[in-house]
Order: sequence, then C-alpha cells, then structure tokens
Amino acid sequence: MSGSAIWHPFTQHGLGEPIPLVTHNEGAALYTADGRRIIDAISSWWVTTHGHRNPRIMAAIAEQAGKLDQIIFAGWTHEPAETLAQGLRAMMPAELTRIFFSDSGSTSVEVALKMALGFWANRGEPRHRILVMEHSYHGDTIGAMSIGARGVFNQAYAPLLFDVGTLPFPASGREQDMLDDLEAACRARPAALIVEPLLLGAGGMLIYPAWVLAEMRAICARHGVLFIADEVMTGWGRTGTLLACEQADIVPDILCLSKGLTGGAVPLAVTMATEPIYAAHLSTDRARMFFHSSSYTANPIACAAANANLAIWREEPVLERIAGLAARQRSRLAKLASLPAVRNARQLGTVTAIEIADGTSDYLSTLGPRLSALFRDKDLLLRPLGNTVYVMPPYCIEDSDLDLIYAAIAEACELGPR
Ligand SMILES: *Cc1c(COP(=O)(O)O)cnc(C)c1O
Repeated sequence: MSGSAIWHPFTQHGLGEPIPLVTHNEGAALYTADGRRIIDAISSWWVTTHGHRNPRIMAAIAEQAGKLDQIIFAGWTHEPAETLAQGLRAMMPAELTRIFFSDSGSTSVEVALKMALGFWANRGEPRHRILVMEHSYHGDTIGAMSIGARGVFNQAYAPLLFDVGTLPFPASGREQDMLDDLEAACRARPAALIVEPLLLGAGGMLIYPAWVLAEMRAICARHGVLFIADEVMTGWGRTGTLLACEQADIVPDILCLSKGLTGGAVPLAVTMATEPIYAAHLSTDRARMFFHSSSYTANPIACAAANANLAIWREEPVLERIAGLAARQRSRLAKLASLPAVRNARQLGTVTAIEIADGTSDYLSTLGPRLSALFRDKDLLLRPLGNTVYVMPPYCIEDSDLDLIYAAIAEACELGPR
C-alpha cells in the first residue's frame, strides 16, 4: 500500500480522484498545500455558518481549552453546558424546555426517535411506527438510515433497516394528497412523524411550502402523534430564519440541531424536547430513565464554541447578513435560470439549487463526476447531488466569490449529455 491509509466518507477510492490536502481556512476560503485558494460554496458540507475560524468562536475554544477539556456527563455537569442550555432555552421556542446533548446530527436523530418511543413506552401505550417523508435524509447510522430515503446508499444494509410509513413528497399541486395520506396514517397510531422542515437537503434540495409544514404539524397534534423536526441542516439561519419551523409558525415536540450549532467549528448536537416528553421519563424508577449517552456528550470545548455562536446570534446582525446573502444570490440565480439547460431553479434563504437537464435525475448520473471535475478545476468546493447543483455558502462570502461560483455553474450548464 502506498500513500494515505485514510478511508474517506462517501468517496470511491477506486476512481483515483484527487483528494486535496487543506492546510488552513478563513471566511469562505480553504487553502491547500499546493497553494490553491478554494471557495467553500457548500459551507464544508452545510456546517459553516458565520465563516471558517470565526474569531469569537476560536477565542472561546482556546479559552475553554485552558480550563476543562472533557468530563463524564452522566450525573456531572459543567458551566459551558449550563450556559448553553440557558442560551438555547432563551433562543428556541419556549415549549422546548429540555435539552439533551450528543455529538452529531445522526445521533441527535437517534436520540429523538428513542425519546419518542420512550415517551409512549413509559405511558404504558407502546407505539413504534415512525412516519417519514419521501426523499428524506436524517443521517447514516442504522436508525437514521431507516427513516431516510432508500437507495444505492443503503441497499447493502436494507434487511437491517426498520419499516416506516413513507408519505409522498408534497410536490407542487400534490400537497393535499400528502396531507390526506398523513391524516390516514395518523389514525393507525404511529409514534411520531419526523421531517426536515421546508427543505430536504440530501434528497436533492427539495423545497415545500410553509403552509404544508403547518398543516402537517396540525394533523399530528390533532391525532396525538409526536412531531419531530430535524433542523440539523435547516437550523441556524440556513432557510432565512433561525429555524425553518418559524416560517410555518409551528413548534415541534422534539427538535434536532447540530451542524451550525457551533458555527460549524467542532462537533456537537442537541435534541430539545417539550416538558411532557421529559416528564414521561421522570420517575423514582430507574427503569424509566432515558437510556442514552455517548462518550463525548456535552464536551465542554464544543459547548464553549456553541456559546460563542449563540453570542454572535444575540449580538450581531446575523439575520440581516442572511437576508443580504439571500438577495445577493437571488439575482445571480435569476440569470442562471434563463439558461436553456437549467431546470427547476429554486431558493430558500441562503440555499439555491438548479437541475441541469441531462435526461436523468440519478445520484450516480454520469453528469455528476464531470460537474465535480469542472468545479475542482475552477477551485470551487461544490458537490452536486446527481445533476442537482446547489450553493449553500457561509454567510460572510464576498460578492466576488459568488460571481466565480455562479459563472462556473453557468459554464457547467453547457456540458450537456454524454
Ligand atoms: C447532515 C444531516 C444529518 C446528519 O448529521 P451528521 O452530523 O452528519 O450525522 C441529519 N439530518 C439532516 C437533515 C442533515 O442534513
């Protein structure tokens, strides 16, 4: 064996594609060992919100590293976690009174599912069925895959994935069908519905309207089915508001947050729950406790980074920056939309997406690798989902970098079928 021993995620090493060595980053730029400046057009896979190495977040990490690195969180606590819990309580919907820490989006989702099932079990009314939306993505662990879209990604593991109730995506003109299906599915007393509010990320940057989200929430409430919002990607301003749920004026029973929770600097996740879900586990009976932990639950350094992120949200005009970025992209997207090969130009907040017509919408579409090669040559970090090209930059990106991104996408639209 020669070269690196690293087995990279979602990477087919057999294709021999180059794997750039990144030495440092700043704002919306990554710098490589071979001297290139790469524009991070997808926020390093949707995590970086305010920009790389945000000075306030870096300072908080450095300061915390001088005090307390890692301690057990079962039965112990620390100031960064307590501060973060208070901060989240103040910033997130008031109904979400309880905060459970974990370390990735996938685990925050697993925790949400276990909370939902625990709620029903502890009430002596066991329910296990989970309702999901077609094309969803909730992570890559077995439970998270079970509630996500089935396909080439998880075919090898299919026999292990648990059965769920899948509702059709509320595509334009078919919203009511989806709502009717949900209503019918709720009558069979499922445990919960889990959704990505307004924007399905890995499923292809698919957008559905806020009124549908509001209706879905109302139907669940009417039938006593728990409503879980996976805002791992949509949270922290991505869709134009702090939470996507705000746009539908709804509050979930359980909320998953990760990615932008630390501004994208270090891994951390929380699952927030309403009081009844916590209360269902509250007892003098140890058998009813919430049986979940990971080693690094509420790591103090990660919590300090998250506290700095919350301070940025409280003290800086983040929503104005986001609105500005949305507007700066809107005009550029409009130009792209007029190209003959462009289908389905769409935007929600800071996220824009198009499809490039090539007669297929397969993730393994041959257009995908050719697009990636073109973007690589242009020193852009863009990672198309099949023939869907999307832009999701850090909020601090400069106009000149946006121009380069949109010019490269326009060029990619000329590639055509092969
Ligand atoms: C990224 C993502 C996850 C998984 O998060 P990880 O930190 O990669 O485990 C879950 N849900 C949604 C909506 C995501 O976009």
